[in-house]
Amino acid sequence: MDAEGKFDAIVVGAGPAGTTAALTMARGGMKVALLERGEYPGAKNVFGGVLYRWPLEEIIPKFWETAPLERQIVDHRFMVMSKDSGLLLSFKVDGRGKAPYNGYTAIRAKFDKWYASKAEEAGVTLATSAVVDDIIMKDGKVVGVRAGPGIENELYADLVIAADGVNSGLAVRAGLREPPSPDQVALGVKEVVELPAEAIEARFNLRKGEGTRMETMGCTHGKMGGGFVYTNANSLSVGVVILLSHLMELKMKPYELLDEFKAHPSIEPFIEGGKAKEYSAHLIPEAGYKGVPRLYRDGMMIAGDAAYLCSYPEGTNLAMASGMLAGKAALHAKKNNDFSAKTLSVYHEMMNESYVIKEMKRKDSSHTAMLNNPRIFGLYPDLINEILADVLHVNGETKTAKHKRAKSKFRDKVGLLRALRDAYSTRGMAP
Ligand SMILES: Cc1cc2nc3c(=O)[nH]c(=O)nc-3n(C[C@H](O)[C@H](O)[C@H](O)COP(=O)(O)OP(=O)(O)OC[C@H]3O[C@@H](n4cnc5c(N)ncnc54)[C@H](O)[C@@H]3O)c2cc1C
Repeated sequence: MDAEGKFDAIVVGAGPAGTTAALTMARGGMKVALLERGEYPGAKNVFGGVLYRWPLEEIIPKFWETAPLERQIVDHRFMVMSKDSGLLLSFKVDGRGKAPYNGYTAIRAKFDKWYASKAEEAGVTLATSAVVDDIIMKDGKVVGVRAGPGIENELYADLVIAADGVNSGLAVRAGLREPPSPDQVALGVKEVVELPAEAIEARFNLRKGEGTRMETMGCTHGKMGGGFVYTNANSLSVGVVILLSHLMELKMKPYELLDEFKAHPSIEPFIEGGKAKEYSAHLIPEAGYKGVPRLYRDGMMIAGDAAYLCSYPEGTNLAMASGMLAGKAALHAKKNNDFSAKTLSVYHEMMNESYVIKEMKRKDSSHTAMLNNPRIFGLYPDLINEILADVLHVNGETKTAKHKRAKSKFRDKVGLLRALRDAYSTRGMAP
């Protein structure tokens, strides 16, 4: 901060995007204020969740030695569910007991706090319980933020980075995007269920410290979405994600969907006897590349979920990567002493070359295909389970008769050419 109380940059939101942007700028010598509405960073933040090694390793080398992490992910599971059965695939990887692993489960209340402390060590000024409600404009430029009424709640800087999450009131006020519409976001509802570490390891067939990430489909009444179970050290994160517009069509309460999921015969044994510790709900950007707004204007950039840069379940990594590039663009602007849109457009250029935008483009086509195809989340999971239940049920009827019945069911309900078309249109769908 200079003698007039002005920072080089203000970052709003101490989630993965904001903290990364602040850290990058502070390491480059900029004076940075990081404003967070929570009592502490992470206090209000929700995710599944798995934290990926990339790009965090580039920002904090060997982070796994000191960060508060829960379990290393060595088991990726995918379940195709019907109402009362489930086909489970498990892919075991990285199980040699040697860090670093590709992903770790984490609790945001612990991780975000730790991560923001790294930014503070780099010189960032962190202010918590600071709810920013507006940007300050002068001559068409963003010049600061307001966190309440009166001059005492105004803060000025050459640059504002909005990393205030999926609802980003600041990006909306700056005219960079609209508030989310129900077909642009999914609602994630999640319960943390406490269980002893030994029970988790026995139920998921894991060694000490190892973890499972399980995604499911077929638990959203044919609507776009799915379920998840992630293993933490002494708890499970259990949740359902559903496109908001589809939830509205379903006319079900989010917790009803979650209760159904928890009671499913393929899920219930994992959580049996566990104690529900907390319940939370949060929006997830689902709009793909089409939804990504303009990322900058005079005196301002946006990063992470605020810019809809999420390709579920990848979100924290894309937030960190975009925060890092926003930070680099800010250092470039500082060097040129010019925070105009023209100079900040380097952010857009770097983003276009990055994995983040490439991944958002990939998500685009599969998202459109899934949005318009009710078969993927209802008919296919039901049919797969129905056919397996029939074929695997021993009752004196020949396998040949059952295979014939399976083929005709498939032909009648889907059709080969339609199945081929569906397979092609959803080829980019994330596992
Ligand atoms: C149920 C669920 C499961 C998920 N699972 C995964 C997963 O397994 N792996 C993964 O990588 N991602 C996952 N995600 C996505 C991931 O959580 C997000 O993409 C990521 O958190 C985005 O980071 P961010 O920093 O942009 O925003 P956020 O993490 O939302 O951080 C925004 C910050 O801004 C603060 N803030 C907001 N408004 C203001 C304001 N007005 N003033 C001051 N501060 C403000 C908030 O308190 C918060 O700290 C999941 C999300 C959900 C909801």
